[in-house]
Parts: sequence; C-alpha cells; structure tokens
Amino acid sequence: MFINLTDVLTSEEKIISVSVETDLTQVEVSKDVCEIVRKTPVSFTFTNVGKNKALIEGNAELVFAMNCDRCLKPVEYKMPLHFSREVVSDSEQPLEDNEEQGFMEGDKLKVEELLLDEIMINWPMKVLCKPDCKGICPKCGKDLNTGDCGCDTFVPDPRMAVIKDIFNANKEV
Ligand SMILES: [Zn+2]
Ligand SMILES: [Zn+2]
Repeated sequence: MFINLTDVLTSEEKIISVSVETDLTQVEVSKDVCEIVRKTPVSFTFTNVGKNKALIEGNAELVFAMNCDRCLKPVEYKMPLHFSREVVSDSEQPLEDNEEQGFMEGDKLKVEELLLDEIMINWPMKVLCKPDCKGICPKCGKDLNTGDCGCDTFVPDPRMAVIKDIFNANKEV
C-alpha cells in the first residue's frame, strides 16, 4: 500500500493522521516464514517539519506465530511497534545513497516496506514460551517442563569439563 505524502512534504506545518490496514500476512526472517496471526491497523501521523521534510510516526501491534526456542512449543509473540522516521522528498532531486529511506518512492510511502523494516529492528533474539522454560531433553526429546525424564545427560567430553570448571568457578564468586 502506498500513501502519498506530497501534501505533508510541501505544506508548512501540515499534519495528517490516518489509520490503515496493511496487507502484511507474514514475514521471512533468515529463511523462516513467520505468520502474522493478528494485527491492529497502523495509525500514522505525518507532520511537515520543513521544506520537503516530513516526520512519519506510527503505532501498531502485530502478533506472530512462532515456536519456543527451547521446547519448540507454538508461541504467540506480541510485537508492539512505535516508530518515528524523518524523510525527505526525493522526487525533485533523487538521492543517491538512499538506503535509509528505501520505503519511500518519490513522495510516496510504501507502508509494508516501512513495517518490515521496523519488524526487523524489533525482531527478538530469543522467543520463549515462558521465561524459565526448561526445554527438551537432548537424549529422549521429552518436554522437561512436564517433569524430569531421568536421562543421564552428563557429557564426558574433556572440553566440556573445562567449560564446566570455568562455569563453577564463576558461580562461586
Ligand atoms: Zn518452551
Ligand atoms: Zn531424557
């Protein structure tokens, strides 16, 4: 979806507020496709902040279908978006190095491109079903949140032993 910002870019002190539904249904993050299960409309405010300059502010909330990084259970991840970007019109004088506002085409805002940009900035390093998720047993695959499986998960690897020593030494401090 495009929103034409010519009016805001060229009229001093002009402010426009709009609320738009986006067509975004999924995102691709490092080859994984993540479905968007729910989303609010994006509420935008466009403010003229100088000649051919506009401030784009927006709020939205997206909910992604993900999996817990430790136990792989499906998790709904809620991502609130609050953003603020200043853009300049490049319709008269195309900017060479324009990567920072790749979501603009001339005076037009490419809504989905901007949202994707914001989603990537806010993408979580780790998603857990609960903060203390115990994960799954590396041996039998049992979900350790439902109880101990009794497997011997001791790894008699000398390199691991060294790491363990360092770990324990740190713990004692
Ligand atoms: Zn989990
Ligand atoms: Zn086990």
